[in-house]
Amino acid sequence: MSTTVPTNLAEWQALADTLSFETRAYINDTFVDAQRGATLSTVNPATGEVLAEVASCDDADAELATHAARQAFDRGEWSRRAPAQRKATLLELAALMQAHRHELALLDTLDMGKPITSALGDIDGAIGCLRYTAESIDKLYGEVAPTGDQHLGLIVREPLGVVVSIVPWNFPLMMTAWKIAPALAAGNSVILKPSEKSPLSALRLAQLSQQAGLPAGVFQVLPGYGHTVGKALALSMQVDCLAFTGSTQVGKQLMQYAGQSNLKRVYLECGGKSPNIIFADCKNLDVAAQNAAAAIFHNQGEVCIAGSRLLVENSIRHAFVEKVVDAAAAMQPGDPLDPQSFMGAMVDNTQYQRVLDYIRQGQEEGATLRTGGQPLDSSGLFIPPTVFDDVTPAMTIGREEIFGPVLSVFGFDTEEEALTLANDSDYGLAAAVWSQDIDRIMRVSRKLHSGQVYVNNWAGPDMTVPFGGVKQSGNGRDKSLHSLDEYTEIKTIWMALQT
Ligand code: NAD
Repeated sequence: MSTTVPTNLAEWQALADTLSFETRAYINDTFVDAQRGATLSTVNPATGEVLAEVASCDDADAELATHAARQAFDRGEWSRRAPAQRKATLLELAALMQAHRHELALLDTLDMGKPITSALGDIDGAIGCLRYTAESIDKLYGEVAPTGDQHLGLIVREPLGVVVSIVPWNFPLMMTAWKIAPALAAGNSVILKPSEKSPLSALRLAQLSQQAGLPAGVFQVLPGYGHTVGKALALSMQVDCLAFTGSTQVGKQLMQYAGQSNLKRVYLECGGKSPNIIFADCKNLDVAAQNAAAAIFHNQGEVCIAGSRLLVENSIRHAFVEKVVDAAAAMQPGDPLDPQSFMGAMVDNTQYQRVLDYIRQGQEEGATLRTGGQPLDSSGLFIPPTVFDDVTPAMTIGREEIFGPVLSVFGFDTEEEALTLANDSDYGLAAAVWSQDIDRIMRVSRKLHSGQVYVNNWAGPDMTVPFGGVKQSGNGRDKSLHSLDEYTEIKTIWMALQT
């Protein structure tokens, strides 16, 4: 594939036309059809075109893969390899991803409809995650306990064994990297179950992992449905850890599967309904409005940390919502292969209909539609930026995760009221505070029930800080050195010494 960066729609389209897809599962160093021969169609939601028929794995494939993963772990080629050597292999994988950056971005764009510019950012994020984590692993030390001289107490970190990563479709390769990079760096054998809606970049990653020299069985990819292969992996007695990103509903099921099987660790990154709080003393309302719009319309609103609840102090609410509506006007959906498109297509017809249903409910329940609301007249699944004002917590659109380009605006008069509104949610993934009052910023930040709080910005922070939620947004932490805690076990070695 050419290394020239395409600059416009025609060039990206030309590049897309040259792509070929790996459609088979990757089990024990070999690309294979599903054992029972089943396939699933993966569809480009911007055009309705079937891109490929991909292996649809089930319990039979899960059995093979978990066996290979366990054997690989026990052989120790990877699990007991020196961290510096694991680092070298993972950096090689990152280099291969960098060399195939455009192709990987195209696969995600074609598979799930996100704009190509956004997909390129995701691939850079995935590569950055792999590099950061690989670089960390040979710099983490164990501990020596403060014993008397008749004993030596060592606290060592060991890989868990077999880790299953189950990921969603909204950031296919980036969510994959957040899960597999720390798990592999720590020495585990990893089985990746990509979403049935976006398996193509995961299978290309499998090819690159083979090229990078990961030993057989250490990294495997099983495409297929959640209720078939996902469930079989989650119930497996061979699996030591489930690392999941996806909906709260499926997260709850995974905890049950762990309880029904072997009490495997379960780390969940689930849904959100994140509040973005704008106080009247915010220094630059134009910047805040631009951010508020991008916080919900980026990636078509199909973002776990979408700022889907905008809480605005009533004294500025009317003027502020005007600014948000103006900013939204420049964020219309378009051909995902066009670098000018801010939004792309909704991932599939189910999600498209679901979002339109929420828009209808918003109107029926009495919210004020300020912009959007009608899908584009197109064969693709395009929904424009939609803003509802006068939303209350009793309304469905004020409570439920829509996972689409729909913003719900609430008004408030006091800081206390803003906090009550913000925390009145089953979720607790992200939140933001816009103000110039440092005392207020700290007061509100500490009182928000949220895994992360952004102050005077709404952007995904970099790799140096953890990412994850509280309440029904889950319990896991991706990114940063803390992500390695999830994929390692602490072991005590207590030695008696002759003195
Ligand atoms: P989903 O829960 O439907 O699916 C996620 C994954 O779980 C898919 O691979 C799916 O096949 C699998 N799955 C489904 N049922 C399963 C079962 N019974 N057993 C095992 N696996 C099963 O979610 P989605 O629609 O793919 O993604 C959207 C959701 O993901 C949203 O709720 C969003 O908020 C959430 N999300 C969260 C984060 C985060 O970091 N908190 C990031 C991205 C997306």
